Amino acid sequence: MEERTIPYKIYLEESEMPKQWYNVRADMKNKPAPLLNPGTLAPMTAEELGHVFCDELVAQELDDTTRFIDIPVEIQDFYKMYRPSPLVRAYCLEKKLETPAKIYYKFEGNNTSGSHKLNSAIAQAYYAKKQGLKGVTTETGAGQWGTALSMACSYFDLDCKVFMVKVSYEQKPFRREVMRTYGASVTPSPSETTEVGRKILAEHPGTTGSLGCAISEAVEAATQSEGYRYVLGSVLNQVLLHQSVIGMETKTALDKYGITPDIIIGCAGGGSNLGGLISPFMGEKLRGEKDYRIIAVEPASCPSFTRGKYAYDFCDTGKVCPLAKMYTLGSGFIPSANHAGGLRYHGMSSTLSQLYDDGLMEARSVEQTAVFEAAEQFARVEGILPAPESSHAIRVAIDEALKCKETGEEKTIVFGLTGTGYFDMVAYEKYNNGEMSDYIPTDEDLAAGLAGLPKVE
Ligand SMILES: *Cc1c(COP(=O)(O)O)cnc(C)c1O
Repeated sequence: MEERTIPYKIYLEESEMPKQWYNVRADMKNKPAPLLNPGTLAPMTAEELGHVFCDELVAQELDDTTRFIDIPVEIQDFYKMYRPSPLVRAYCLEKKLETPAKIYYKFEGNNTSGSHKLNSAIAQAYYAKKQGLKGVTTETGAGQWGTALSMACSYFDLDCKVFMVKVSYEQKPFRREVMRTYGASVTPSPSETTEVGRKILAEHPGTTGSLGCAISEAVEAATQSEGYRYVLGSVLNQVLLHQSVIGMETKTALDKYGITPDIIIGCAGGGSNLGGLISPFMGEKLRGEKDYRIIAVEPASCPSFTRGKYAYDFCDTGKVCPLAKMYTLGSGFIPSANHAGGLRYHGMSSTLSQLYDDGLMEARSVEQTAVFEAAEQFARVEGILPAPESSHAIRVAIDEALKCKETGEEKTIVFGLTGTGYFDMVAYEKYNNGEMSDYIPTDEDLAAGLAGLPKVE
């Protein structure tokens, strides 16, 4: 047995956990484009955003210059309950693949909500409480964000109203019950409880909903109720900021052992885990200190980066939200049924979109069956049952490790393992029964979505 100088799990001491979030925008020469008012097309002001979002979060959203932002002690304390998350050396996977590559993954699934989303949920709930609000509203697709937010709200004694995409509400009753156990109310979307929900139902009777619809409903519910604001679990700059704890912990852990990654990989839905994981590394890249290959992985069924357009678009189906410039498939794009629920958003973080447009990162799309093959291979040797979303990153990490096997290169690969798949067993069942499909939208499908982009010059 060769001697292992790197432990299986690199843990950090509590004292080594980040006390500040890192704001990668401060180091970007080309800043992400501002959110626009959909009526006037002028950049959204803090005052306008303040009707929808909590004040402190608006300030974070608009702050492109402050490099480090203090993490309030109350949030640090909550982080300590489930962080630092382990950085694991995938020795068993390396052996199975017979690759000379060194593979590490940062595992964010060790909390009840089962994913990285809790890192931002707790921050957003904290600022809502600090502002003296009664509660918050949100949408959830696959259910991870709603679960995380309901945990965070119960911790700070805030009311939490979740609009859950109807198909998930029906297919994932267990997530729904976790949310209710933490005290949240859960409404299947589109619903009759909002004006925009009624309108969508009238236009598309029998629709099983989408993230874009649920966002419209949650925003309406927040702006129509006194003492409520809307919170979002991905896409926004503030969410990437909170998720920077993933990358900072990863970097501290690697630095302890003098490890420099060659390739950093993450799945991308709205871009928050990837944005968080890469942030300190991207910072070094932007400042010209180091270079890394960074790869975003998305489902072939919802290919925002690889087949979308970099343009201003609506963030939601009901077109009630500000316009964001991002890689998008059009707010009217409804992806085919795909089991990576958390990756089904039509758009992408505007920060990551700008970085991608500037050639600072790559993107790859992968098909569903290949993703589940990777998930199964990983689970069988590493033990963790991965979330389908996370398994997109596993797929590309394995592909890169297999390339190293061919070339003999000993590259160091780091990827984000964002969550566990316990609530995704219907998807695993489909895979195990050989019933999984690999639907890829045609160019015509995509053209229809892109035709609905707003005209912004
Ligand atoms: C929500 C989710 C994602 C995708 O969201 P990002 O904002 O792109 O990170 C990925 N993995 C898991 C487990 C999720 O819950």
